[in-house]
Amino acid sequence: MQNDTRVAIVGCGPAGLMAATVLSAAGLAVDIFDAKGSAGCKFLIAGRGGLNITHSEPVETFVNRYGDNAGIFKKILAGFSPDDLRAWLRKLGVETFVGSSGRVFPKEIKAPDILKILIEALSRSGVVFHYRHRWQGFSQAGFPLFLAESGELLEFPAKTLLLALGGASWPQTGSDGSWATLLSAKGIHLEPFRPANCGLEVAWSEHFRSRFSGKPLKNVLLRCGDQQANGDVMITDYGLEGGPVYTLSSVMRELLKKNSPASLFLDLKRDLSLEYILEKFSAYGRSKESLANFLRKTIHLTGPAYSLLREICSPEELKKPAVLAGQLKNLRIPINNTRPLAEAISSAGGITFPEVNDDLMLHKLPGVFVAGEMLDWEAPTGGYLLQGAFSTGYLAAQGLRKWLGKQANSLQGN
Ligand SMILES: Cc1cc2nc3c(=O)[nH]c(=O)nc-3n(C[C@H](O)[C@H](O)[C@H](O)COP(=O)(O)OP(=O)(O)OC[C@H]3O[C@@H](n4cnc5c(N)ncnc54)[C@H](O)[C@@H]3O)c2cc1C
Repeated sequence: MQNDTRVAIVGCGPAGLMAATVLSAAGLAVDIFDAKGSAGCKFLIAGRGGLNITHSEPVETFVNRYGDNAGIFKKILAGFSPDDLRAWLRKLGVETFVGSSGRVFPKEIKAPDILKILIEALSRSGVVFHYRHRWQGFSQAGFPLFLAESGELLEFPAKTLLLALGGASWPQTGSDGSWATLLSAKGIHLEPFRPANCGLEVAWSEHFRSRFSGKPLKNVLLRCGDQQANGDVMITDYGLEGGPVYTLSSVMRELLKKNSPASLFLDLKRDLSLEYILEKFSAYGRSKESLANFLRKTIHLTGPAYSLLREICSPEELKKPAVLAGQLKNLRIPINNTRPLAEAISSAGGITFPEVNDDLMLHKLPGVFVAGEMLDWEAPTGGYLLQGAFSTGYLAAQGLRKWLGKQANSLQGN
């Protein structure tokens, strides 16, 4: 491999593919590498669940989804916004639509077809794909080194490098975070990877686990600290899964660092007020019905919700209407842990923002740019992850272009 007129991108996920789009459109010769035998494995997995590509909410609200990094993402999204993402997809022939929740999805096209369109467009513009090339760090001359499938260690003397190696969840998709040791060895500060948007573990009794695993708790409200989320929650062998659980999983993860178990509170009847339930329960002492029937008839408590009450509350608590009503509205579930990183939808941790400049170039490795989930940010599900990957890929590629321009100017000046 001898070609120092080319730009190397490592990582064929959304961030790397966006960077390749920007750089090839700017007339640069681009080679893109990936450790896997094909591109976009995690993107394809995301597609299985509906491919929520971005969100339609106003950008001022959107940036707040990145929590402590909202200020940084305000600048990043100013460069490549949710509208820009939709416009770019439209140019590729991929129409999108806004779902009832404001989430944006591709219209009548699946993730594999989007990926195919993108790869074909990049190949037509001269981007060269190298699969089964694992980035292994740098040669003595400072060029990227790759372990090829043949077992050969290859140096690629690119004039500059953009890394888009992903986070550390779902390692089977190639995003295994193994690159972290290579960059740490260069003195770059990384936060440890942690699960984000993940399930939570509860030590159910054998009785509850065997009867209710796989059953949903419909339309419940979850609270943790000052955060809350609502929707359907799935009971599993090991605990809880589902959209509202993922939303609160980061807060729960931080609480668990201090205390285990940590408390998650469930409102099993979020459409009824405590006062209303108390009034309905005033007849409880006189009722000949079983508690399960009484709850079904008076407040329409159905599904596994009643069994969950029995799982958590003592028989004495269930006999006292006021206590029972309180538990229905605020049932404390002891959470023992988050599910492992490998199962999480995304990861927190990675290269911290102080390690990069405004163009996402590493201060300690001038000429090396980074993008996507390998940076230390997290966001809930809802399209914020893919948008973050595409937008950082765009910003890093623009930064790389500027940097090459500056290098060329300074050479001319000499
Ligand atoms: C089940 C699931 C569902 C999801 N659903 C959604 C959704 O609906 N909406 C949403 O916004 N997000 C979703 N996501 C998250 C989204 O897919 C990721 O945030 C996004 O793919 C990150 O893009 P990336 O380019 O940063 O990294 P990745 O997509 O992880 O790509 C990184 C690439 O780098 C390669 N690589 C890693 N190390 C090396 C190395 N040393 N050498 C060479 N190559 C290497 C990997 O093989 C991989 O191809 C989902 C994720 C999962 C797991």
